[in-house]
Amino acid sequence: MAEEQEGTIEKMMLQKPFKFFDSHGHPGLEKKGILERPGCFDMWAGNTVGARSLMGARAFLGDPNPTKIITKPEELPEFSPETFIQFMDSASIEGMCLQAIHGISDPYPGNEKGWKWYVPNDYVKKTFIDAFPGRFTAVGGIHARYGKEAAVEMVVSAHECGFPGCKFHTPTSGYPNNPDMYPAYEKIVELGMHLQVHTGQEELPGTRAKYQDPVYLDDVAMDFPDLKILQLHCGLFNNPMQALWNVMKFDNTYTDITVPHPTLMHFKYYWDMDHIRFLEFFMPDKVFYGTDFPLTLPVYQTMIDNIMTMPISTEFKHKLMGNNFRKFVNWGS
Ligand SMILES: [Zn+2]
Repeated sequence: MAEEQEGTIEKMMLQKPFKFFDSHGHPGLEKKGILERPGCFDMWAGNTVGARSLMGARAFLGDPNPTKIITKPEELPEFSPETFIQFMDSASIEGMCLQAIHGISDPYPGNEKGWKWYVPNDYVKKTFIDAFPGRFTAVGGIHARYGKEAAVEMVVSAHECGFPGCKFHTPTSGYPNNPDMYPAYEKIVELGMHLQVHTGQEELPGTRAKYQDPVYLDDVAMDFPDLKILQLHCGLFNNPMQALWNVMKFDNTYTDITVPHPTLMHFKYYWDMDHIRFLEFFMPDKVFYGTDFPLTLPVYQTMIDNIMTMPISTEFKHKLMGNNFRKFVNWGS
C-alpha cells in the first residue's frame, strides 16, 4: 500500500491507481424530456449567472456558439446520462452521488408562486442508477413547503428508491431548522439514512442568502445527535468558518468541498493549500470530494489533478477523493 511507504519520493509518486468518487453531481439537465423536470431548463436558458456558468460546459459539449443565450430546449447541447459516464471514465471516477431535488423558492418580484426545482427520485433511479449499475447512488429531495407530512413522505420515497440519504436544498426550501422539517429528520434517523443540506451561496431564482448560512445547521445537529449530516459546499462565500466549526463540533456532521466552479466561486477555499491542510489536520475522515457536475464539466479532470498534485499525504488524498464518502454511504455493501 502506498500509505505505508516511508520515503518522500514514494509518498509523492505512488498515488495511482486510485479510483475517485464524486460525492456531488446534478442529474436533470439532460436534454431529453427536460421540460418535464421543473427548473432544469432554466439552468441552461436566459442571461443568468447559472446559465453563463454553463457556457463552458456547452463549449466542451460541442456547441458551436456557446455564449448565445438559450431560449428553447432544441438549442441545448447534446447532454445525457452517457455524458456523465464518459466524463467519469475519463477522470477515473468510479461512482457519483446524484442529487434528486425538490424545492420551491419564496415568492419574488415577477414570480409570485416561487421558483420550482424538481428532479424526481424515480427519474434518477431509472435513468441513472438502474441504467448504469455500480456507477451511481443518489439522495432524494425533501422540503416542507407542502407541510410536515409531505416532507415525511418524501423521505419514505427516497428510502423506497434505495437511496442512502435525503437532500434539503435551503435556497428553495428555507431554513433547515424549520420545525416542520423535524418529523422528516426523525424519519431519516429511523430509516438509517443521512441528511444532506445545502450551505453557502446559490445563484438560482428566488435565492435568499440567509437560508444558506450554516449556522442554522447547528440547531439541527444539536437537536438530532443521531442524525448523520452532510453539509454541502462547506458554507462557501457565506460563512465557511461556521461550516468548518460545525464539522469540528459535531461527531455526526460532515462536509464536502464542492464548488460550482473553483475559479468563479471559491478561490480561497478550494485551491488554497492552507485550507486543504486545515481539513487534513482537523477533519481528515469527515470531508468529501464533489464537483457539482455538470457545472464543472470543463475542469473535471483539472480539479482532480489540482488536489492530487498538492503536497499533502497520499493517505489523506485517498480519504478525501473517495474513501471517506464510500464509507459514509457503505458503498458496495
Ligand atoms: Zn450542487
